[in-house]
Amino acid sequence: MRLSQFSRRAAAQPWCGAILDGDTVIDLPAAGDAAGVDIPRTLSALLDRWHWAEKVSMAVTYATEHGTAREDLDDLVRHAPVSDPGKVVCVGLNYEDHAREGDHPIPDEPVLFSKFPTAITGPGAEITWDPAYTEQVDYEAELVVVVGREARDVSVDDAWEYVAGVTVGNDVSARDLQHGDGQWVRGKSLDTFAPIGPELVTLDDVDDPHDLDIWTDLDGERLQDSNTENFIFGLDELVAFCSRAFTLDPGDLIFTGTPPGVGVYRDPPVLLDDGDRVTVGIEGLGELTNVCRHR
Ligand code: ZN
Repeated sequence: MRLSQFSRRAAAQPWCGAILDGDTVIDLPAAGDAAGVDIPRTLSALLDRWHWAEKVSMAVTYATEHGTAREDLDDLVRHAPVSDPGKVVCVGLNYEDHAREGDHPIPDEPVLFSKFPTAITGPGAEITWDPAYTEQVDYEAELVVVVGREARDVSVDDAWEYVAGVTVGNDVSARDLQHGDGQWVRGKSLDTFAPIGPELVTLDDVDDPHDLDIWTDLDGERLQDSNTENFIFGLDELVAFCSRAFTLDPGDLIFTGTPPGVGVYRDPPVLLDDGDRVTVGIEGLGELTNVCRHR
């Protein structure tokens, strides 16, 4: 399944929907109403319901059979698939090729940091910042895990059961703030610095999350180009590792690290600028495009 959040107008509150065949969206709360299935408005609230996947299937089947709650994707505004996660966990250094690029040793354990959930934005939205506040804004292509079930101290073998699916993310980073502060939370958490989307793809629709091409295009030029086979820690290992430290809740996000080619390590460095169009893509998951704006 491919799930996300949509609205008919840009400023409206989003609702969760299922994308059927590339251009039809089932309005899940409306389909649930018609089918007598309890489906809340937001995707994070839906993921918090028991048997959410079965509920979605029932609502989609009903809507398809009865020709109701159907929308044309072209008529809708896309939002982040999850706009209100309880937490956004990030993993530093998780690609072997990126570790080599920065001359870092391969870590024995994942290094975690965080972005605040207020940084979340969606596909097509602007990444904005005040150029008087930060002068070094950078991109990071990342595969993002969406948690689908409360996870506390789960084993690596069981970890997949706690994953709702995966999506594409850009761990936008203000390098001057990140490196100047001695820790990273401010430089990683500016409003709009966590674009995700275009949609959550459930695991049954992903061939192998540890063998997907991942890339970043900046104004059409490919600046990151790798594959998740280069992960140092797999998604199951990351979920288990996080859940040993703290409870993962439905809707929580894990940004799983970026491959080589980020702007700050390039020679000469490439920094994001007003008007830049940055696209992060992952094979089978889609592309996430945002335009940069000074404010
Ligand atoms: Zn990152």
